Amino acid sequence: MATETRYDQFIDGEFRESTGDEVTDVTYPYTGETWARAPSGTDADVAAAVEAARDAFESAAWNELLPTERSDLLLQIADVCERHGDELGELETRQNGKLLTEMQAGTNGMAEWFRYYASHCRTDEGRVVPVEAKGGDVFNYVRQEPLGVVGGITPWNTPLLLSVFKIAPALATGNTFVHKPSEITPISALRFAELIYEETDLPDGVYNVVAGDGETGAALTNHTDVDKLAFTGGVETGRKVGAAAGRNIVPVTLELGGKSPNIVFPSAEFENAVTGALKGIFAASGQSCMAGSRILVHEEIHEAFVDRFLERAESIELGDPMDPETEMGPLAFDRQWETVREYIDSGVDAGATIRYGGDRPEELPGELFLRPTVLTGVDNEMRIAREEIFGPVATVIPFGSEAEALEIANDTEYGLGAGVWTQDMRQAFRLAERLEAGNVWVNEFRLATWNSPSGGFGDSGIGRENGADALDEYRSAKSVYIDTAGDIPDPFVYSPD
Ligand code: NAD
Repeated sequence: MATETRYDQFIDGEFRESTGDEVTDVTYPYTGETWARAPSGTDADVAAAVEAARDAFESAAWNELLPTERSDLLLQIADVCERHGDELGELETRQNGKLLTEMQAGTNGMAEWFRYYASHCRTDEGRVVPVEAKGGDVFNYVRQEPLGVVGGITPWNTPLLLSVFKIAPALATGNTFVHKPSEITPISALRFAELIYEETDLPDGVYNVVAGDGETGAALTNHTDVDKLAFTGGVETGRKVGAAAGRNIVPVTLELGGKSPNIVFPSAEFENAVTGALKGIFAASGQSCMAGSRILVHEEIHEAFVDRFLERAESIELGDPMDPETEMGPLAFDRQWETVREYIDSGVDAGATIRYGGDRPEELPGELFLRPTVLTGVDNEMRIAREEIFGPVATVIPFGSEAEALEIANDTEYGLGAGVWTQDMRQAFRLAERLEAGNVWVNEFRLATWNSPSGGFGDSGIGRENGADALDEYRSAKSVYIDTAGDIPDPFVYSPD
């Protein structure tokens, strides 16, 4: 990691120098060492990428591909993901400091997303609608058409996999893509672009990457030749992206934050529930949109649960994220560390008790480690129970009945995920129906897969990723009517048939 690599933008099938001079340092959070530099994209960079994507969208090389040919291209990209999954995962860890095991599981898994959407190209069937106009003498069918140029904006916490949630269905439906990755993690996207253009037949301009910060993102969302915005990130940025979509009247998907409840009932398998709660909040150092940051525990088992949870939290192995033995790495960058620490202070000020953690372990390098933190005496009205902390901070909230658990769980602006730990399956079904969240896990937590839809209720977002549902986010239906009768009735006489 001694040498710093300077990257360019990736536009129209090749690396292209940015029109600006500014660069962003990319550092390895474990050591603080800068190992790469990426351009800070200018408006002109964004415009060039959008133009390349528009040209590609209109080119015969892309828009005249048969579905099986597009499917084959996605399968080629899947093979790239498989061949280079380990390398891409390592790049991710070097950018955001999350565990290599987790990042590589994600980047190796990307192949399945491309294969799944490749299969849709091969199996999608058309739709004929039996309309009743003119006594049925009309043939109506529905064409599914791509939207055009997609602007995809993504965060730093799971950089590439979350991007693939967008890229795979967008390409499968015939769109082209301009990707603005997070300024913290631009390298994996640039390398991904380089690899797919080295090793597949994807036409130039179909996938472009413009590195840069929020201003670059805003240039993309404001660009009037972008036909669809696909965003993953925080709620406040999501509002801006949504407003830009409103101004330009383009569809938008927003995958935003969460404050997910993880509810433990007395009938739960105790040790599994403790492990699930631990996984929910401390895996990924809590830097997960789906983090189970509010652990709701029935008062009958609250004390025993907290004791065991503390024991397990204290035994978490912190260290080098590249080491397979490490269970929790550092936070991704200093502003993030400060924000998390401020939230802990606000909890204490509001009356919560730190039962473990809250501090930086001095024996570890750098400034970015934070011990897994457990707060009890938490009320759902406190800021720490209402706002997304995005760090390894568990808040434990007691409840007395199923109705109360449900009320607390749903008393949030968010609605991304919810966990239920119970052996009573009727209770599980009841809660799955009543919890206001886009993902509900029973006796598990934080699962996502290519063929099941994922998204948020409330402020957690709009639209769905993954599964067949995601296809409709990237295409628009066109209804075609063809007269089969051969006569046109008098246009000035209304006739219902
Ligand atoms: P962020 O909102 O700060 O940034 C996300 C992206 O938006 C970055 O690429 C950033 O450069 C860009 N951006 C910033 N300002 C912009 C603007 N005005 N216009 C356009 N783009 C702009 O989020 P983050 O800190 O990178 O990521 C963490 C957040 O992402 C958390 O809230 C987390 O919950 C959320 N997240 C959600 C999901 C999900 O699937 N729902 C998944 C992962 C992360």
